[in-house]
Amino acid sequence: MKGSEIRSKFLRFFEGKGHTVVDSSPLVPKDDPTLLFTNAGMVQFKMVFMGEDKRPYSKAVTSQRCVRAGGKHNDLENVGYTARHHTFFEMLGNFSFGDYFKEDAIRYAWQFLTRELGLPPEKLWVSVFEDDDEAFDLWEKVEGLPKGRIVRMGEKDNFWAMGDTGPCGPCSEIHIDQGVEAGCGRSDCALGCDCDRFLELWNLVFMQFNRAEDGSMTPLPKPSIDTGMGLERVAAVLQGKLTNYDSDLFAPIIAKLEQLSGKRYKEHNGDDTAMRVIADHARATAFLVADGVLPSNEGRGYVLRRIMRRAVRYGRNLGLTTNFLEQVVETVVVSMGAAYPVLEGATSLLAKVVRNEEERFRETLEHGLQLLEEEIAKLESASARILPGAFVFKLYDTYGFPYDIVRDIANERRLVIDEAGYQAAMTGQRRQSRSSRKDEGLRLREDGIKSLIEAGVATTFVGYDCLEIESEIK
Ligand code: ATP
Ligand code: MG
Ligand code: MG
Ligand code: MG
Repeated sequence: MKGSEIRSKFLRFFEGKGHTVVDSSPLVPKDDPTLLFTNAGMVQFKMVFMGEDKRPYSKAVTSQRCVRAGGKHNDLENVGYTARHHTFFEMLGNFSFGDYFKEDAIRYAWQFLTRELGLPPEKLWVSVFEDDDEAFDLWEKVEGLPKGRIVRMGEKDNFWAMGDTGPCGPCSEIHIDQGVEAGCGRSDCALGCDCDRFLELWNLVFMQFNRAEDGSMTPLPKPSIDTGMGLERVAAVLQGKLTNYDSDLFAPIIAKLEQLSGKRYKEHNGDDTAMRVIADHARATAFLVADGVLPSNEGRGYVLRRIMRRAVRYGRNLGLTTNFLEQVVETVVVSMGAAYPVLEGATSLLAKVVRNEEERFRETLEHGLQLLEEEIAKLESASARILPGAFVFKLYDTYGFPYDIVRDIANERRLVIDEAGYQAAMTGQRRQSRSSRKDEGLRLREDGIKSLIEAGVATTFVGYDCLEIESEIK
């Protein structure tokens, strides 16, 4: 079953159960400066769950575009290293706003996975929160789930909270056992292991309590449901693949990379990693730019810059030493534009932004890499393994190398970065630039005021009518 079929099957299934199909919201959350990017389906419904916004429906279903890079949920570092994580992915979710609760949520999920998608029940495992007897009992009653497949887990994995206070509750996750060959091979590998064997497919969150400042929890008057399932993971499983990157959702992008580099996927491990990272980052780039994020040195823009530059550096591992990212991003638009028309509207902007950023980075990339090679040679001749933090900072500050890139290279060469030294260099530079900015600011302000007075300008207080708008997230 193709990814696009799974997506529409999911939407139709829940529509058939009375859910309203709601469009994906943009990656930049509206009116929510606390969040870098939309990282789950529930983000656009946050206020509805809190009871502060009303919708004409009490049940919804979405296929939500998500980014987990930078910020609280950060999977940027996992990309290239696990088979299941992306920076950009699609989350399929069904939601109940005070309508149905645990029983239906569990029943629907089981029905969808085993009947609609035909996943084999004997491979499925379920986790519930350790104190959630209600969910445990409901799963026990589910026909077809083999005995001994319900595992109680702790707060870290199976309790969800919107923040320190507010709506929260236990969750229940459905996993599929992909067999020993997909895992870490340790004898104690079991559900909850961080490897890819027991692949987490679907998280069902039971929003049940309201947590107060003092930590006490009171039952919500209208418990709600929020679920999320990664489309790429389900697609890979249904297509008999052990990594998301081998699903049809990535095929056109990987094919483009094969064509551009003249290398074949699945022939050499290092090339595969590079192709996967670039494929993932090209998708994130396309969607972030289409949703209005531009590469910059701060906030959201800097996360995008890190993603793009990391892709360019991995391109070099494939032998791509001239601009290529624009063409990969174009393939993303072609393969995903039908499901996400926002991409098609951004084609020319995307081309320009990607070309500029790649060109700009290429001005310093080679020289920076050469310095890095010299530094590594020095370390190797001294049998040392630690890249000095001040040097890594210089690569960032002078050559525009985001930390992630140096970390990737350090991993490739079995070196470690002196992270504390890097942080110290960064803090030192910030302090210095802050104080010089202050001096410069004062001088400019004094000059400005003097020239205004000389010009006979008077000031008017406008603070009652307008506020200064914060444009960047720090
Ligand atoms: P994992 O433990 O594998 O990191 P998670 O517990 O962080 O996943 P949730 O926050 O529960 O994930 O999100 C709901 C679902 O979204 C997951 O069950 C998974 O199918 C999917 N998902 C989460 N993170 C990613 C990601 N980085 N890339 C692709 N799919 C993801
Ligand atoms: Mg995670
Ligand atoms: Mg998890
Ligand atoms: Mg989870």
